[in-house]
Amino acid sequence: MPGGIFAMIGRAVRHKGRVPTPGAADAARAGGVRRVHEISVMTALLDSVEAHATRIGAKKVLAINLVIGERASIIDDSLLFAFDLLTLGTRAEGAALNVRRTRMRFHCAPCDDDYHRTGTDFRCPRCGAVGQVTDEGSELLIESMEVEE
Ligand SMILES: [Zn+2]
Repeated sequence: MPGGIFAMIGRAVRHKGRVPTPGAADAARAGGVRRVHEISVMTALLDSVEAHATRIGAKKVLAINLVIGERASIIDDSLLFAFDLLTLGTRAEGAALNVRRTRMRFHCAPCDDDYHRTGTDFRCPRCGAVGQVTDEGSELLIESMEVEE
């Protein structure tokens, strides 16, 4: 995909506010060995954080708020490990890493309505039809960050 994960995440960074990054989960799924995968994802995220911190003249990054869909195949423990490792000696060292998970969403055509799955049941709770998976739940983006200016 053009630009790769760096470009997508780079566009997603905002001081405040949410910007969707369609296709980010495909990049996230492209990883091989688990921990190495989270390190490469976190490297891309922190690159954007650093660039944004420089742009707004921040002295220190206090918190980074991520949104990660349940389909993005990211393991929290590995991500935290990568975060601690990669932020050593940077502006983001000691920052809080907050992860908000979003759930997969389906669209039922007969009902023309969206729903979340119930456990392992992917069918529409109203009519029982099997809905189409929407993009929701595949996000990987920085929702906001808190800095010391
Ligand atoms: Zn339905």
